[in-house]
Amino acid sequence: MNKIKLLEELSNLHGAPGHEIDVVEFIKNSMNDFNCKRDSINNLYIKRNDMIDGPIVALDCHSDEVGFIVENINSNGTISFLPLGGWHITNIPAHSVVIKNFKGEYIKGVVASKPPHFMTAEEKQKLPKLDELVIDIGTSSFEETVNLYGIEVGNPITPDVTFSYDPKIEVVRGKAFDNRLGCAIVMEIMKETNNIHLNVNPIGVVSSQEEVGLRGAQVAANTIKPDFAIIFEGSPADDTFKDAFSSKGAIGKGVQLRVIDAGMVSNPRVQEFVKNIARNNNIPFQVIARSGGSTNGGKYHIADKSIPTVVIGIPTRYIHTHYTYASIKDYENAILLGRKLLEALTVDIINKF
Ligand SMILES: [Zn+2]
Repeated sequence: MNKIKLLEELSNLHGAPGHEIDVVEFIKNSMNDFNCKRDSINNLYIKRNDMIDGPIVALDCHSDEVGFIVENINSNGTISFLPLGGWHITNIPAHSVVIKNFKGEYIKGVVASKPPHFMTAEEKQKLPKLDELVIDIGTSSFEETVNLYGIEVGNPITPDVTFSYDPKIEVVRGKAFDNRLGCAIVMEIMKETNNIHLNVNPIGVVSSQEEVGLRGAQVAANTIKPDFAIIFEGSPADDTFKDAFSSKGAIGKGVQLRVIDAGMVSNPRVQEFVKNIARNNNIPFQVIARSGGSTNGGKYHIADKSIPTVVIGIPTRYIHTHYTYASIKDYENAILLGRKLLEALTVDIINKF
C-alpha cells in the first residue's frame, strides 16, 4: 500500500476516544511482520521480531480522534450527546456524523439545531449551547431510533468525512489527521527500518484516549518504559490566519518541533540533537513555542526515570473540526526524520540527554 493510500484508509476509519478498536485492528492487521499486542485501554504495541539488547525507543502516535458519545435518546427520536475531546461550539452544528451502535453498524446523522425560521431575534445573535444541539438520524420516535437503528447510550459518534487528495498541490483533505497522520508515520517508519540494523529497539506505540487527557500514553510509558520517546502529532497549522512572518506552522514548510506547550518544556539537548539530524538530511523544520495545548509528550517526559522526548508535528489545518488539510511533503519528511533519528540514536547519545 502506498503512503497516501495508507493515510486514506486510516483517515476514513472511526475511532472516538475509548472506541479506537477499528483503527487498532486495521493497524494490527497491516503489520503482519511484527509482534503486535493490544492492552485493555486500546493501546497497541508494535515490536520487531528481532529485539536487541539495547535502549527502547517509543514511536508514539494516538489512534483516537475528537468525537462525541450518545447521552440520551429523546422521545422524538433525536439524540443528545456529550463531547469527547476539545470541540468549539461553532464547529459542531449542521455537520454530518456517524454513530456506531454496539452491533458495530454505522448510522449517519446530522447535528441539528433550531432552524433560523423559529429563532427569536435574540437567539439569532447568540451561540447555541452544546446541550441545545441534537443529532437527527431521520427518525421520528424513540422506538425507531432504538429498535430500528440500535442506538444506545454510550455509542460513539465521529465526523462523517471522506478523504481526498489533490496532486496539484500535494495536499490531502479528510478528517482525523490529528492523529491518523501520526499512525501512518509510525507504521511507515517501523516497516522501513525493519530490516535495518539499529542500535536501539523501536517500539511503535499506537496510544488511545489522547483527546481526553493523554490517558493511553500514560499507560504506555509505564508499560514499555522507553529510554527515548518520539511523538508524532498532527498539530495545528496557523498559516491561514497568521501572516507569513509570524506563522510557525505552515503546511508544506516542514515538520514542526515544539519547544514548549501546556504539558512540556522540551529538553534543549534533545531539540539540538533532532535539529542537527534534520539539518544534516535537508529536512525542513519549523520551531514553535505554544502557550496552550499538549501532546502525549506531556506524559512520556515525566514518566519512569524521566524519558527524553521529542514531539514532531505535522502542520494540519483546522484540527478538531470535520475537515483537515495537510501536506504530503510534511508527512514524508516526518517519516524521513523519524527514520534518521532511529539510525542515529545510541545508548551513549541517550545517556547524555
Ligand atoms: Zn492529537
